[in-house]
Amino acid sequence: MRLSSRVAKINPSETLAISAKTNALRAQGRDVIGFAAGEPDFDTPVNIKNAAIKAIEAGFTKYTPVGGTDELKDAIIAKLKRDNDLEYKRSQIVVSCGAKHTLYNLAQVLFDPGDEVIIPAPYWVSYPDIVVLAEGRPVIINTNEKDGFKMTPEQLRTAITDRTRAVIINSPSNPTGAAYSPQELQAIAKVLIDKDILIISDDIYEKIFYAKFPFMNMATCEPKLKDRIIVVNGVSKTYAMTGWRIGYAAGPEEIVAAINKIQSQNTSNPTSISQKAAVEAISGEQGVVDKMVSEFQKRRDFIVDALNQIPGVKCFSPEGAFYVFPNVSGIYGRSYKGKKITSSPELIDYLLDEANVAAVPGAAFGSDSHIRLSYATSLKNIEEGIKRIKDAISKLVS
Ligand SMILES: *Cc1c(COP(=O)(O)O)cnc(C)c1O
Repeated sequence: MRLSSRVAKINPSETLAISAKTNALRAQGRDVIGFAAGEPDFDTPVNIKNAAIKAIEAGFTKYTPVGGTDELKDAIIAKLKRDNDLEYKRSQIVVSCGAKHTLYNLAQVLFDPGDEVIIPAPYWVSYPDIVVLAEGRPVIINTNEKDGFKMTPEQLRTAITDRTRAVIINSPSNPTGAAYSPQELQAIAKVLIDKDILIISDDIYEKIFYAKFPFMNMATCEPKLKDRIIVVNGVSKTYAMTGWRIGYAAGPEEIVAAINKIQSQNTSNPTSISQKAAVEAISGEQGVVDKMVSEFQKRRDFIVDALNQIPGVKCFSPEGAFYVFPNVSGIYGRSYKGKKITSSPELIDYLLDEANVAAVPGAAFGSDSHIRLSYATSLKNIEEGIKRIKDAISKLVS
């Protein structure tokens, strides 16, 4: 079968692939502890579910405007004012089927062949492929633990060329959990201020935040850049609503209108019922979020400490999100039954086969020295899983 060259240019999402493999092993009866999933383990809060049930009962089950209902747009506008001190009009908001869809649409309306998009690594798996699908060219900036997994203003300045169209900032980050402080964003803003470059701010982990400094995005931090910034956010991570598929963009009217046009020819509106649920999530009682975040923080403290006690493993303490991204390169070169482990995919295979633990190779995020573990699972699972990892690593011989 001949398929398009477009599809041959991209990789399937590695995180989704590993989740599927984990589920398949479990179906065979294997007791696998999963650290691969990129979603909260909590149930969607009951007030949100009830809003959806009410929507169904009221017959709110038909097409809505392509870019979302006015009710949801108004809730998003109020949220952006309340949490981020940013003002937008309805014409500057567009709701899509998850933030991934928002980012996909954005790339489709912004990039032409050869347009360069700066992506700091380690990056969320989908950014480069979303850019490639739009025929743009990902330009990767490698960051490391020493710089807190954050790109420096110098690195950014060096990466900018005449073809640079946009830079993607994801803070807190998936997979590292690194978050830019307001001062760090200021320094980055200085590099961008006199350049004609768009800034895509992926704020999906805004609320899952543990740093001492306040969360801030570039638009709040540097108002002079606001008309070149597209803020992307959604309800998946904050409200444990990954399956509902609601994400949104806030930004320049022209870009938002273009997304509406593209979306009118692909998905049409995001699910009507999910939109009602999202209104409740964003405007309703926010206390549940604090509860989930304080649980995540407890787990983070535990897992970072436990990983750092494994010889050969060095784990950076994240400032947000629900992932750890330990450096495991200290283990590379050791072997098991004569087979050497030399890369993150090999280590991940070994951990799955020998320890019944699923995690994601750092290579999928642009750093082969690391692996990603999600701590969106119970403390009990985390304890048992880390013990298994420790035992499996101790069986390796140098
Ligand atoms: C999960 C995630 C998204 C997309 O979430 P949706 O479920 O599509 O709303 C976007 N960016 C990052 C960094 C993520 O981790």
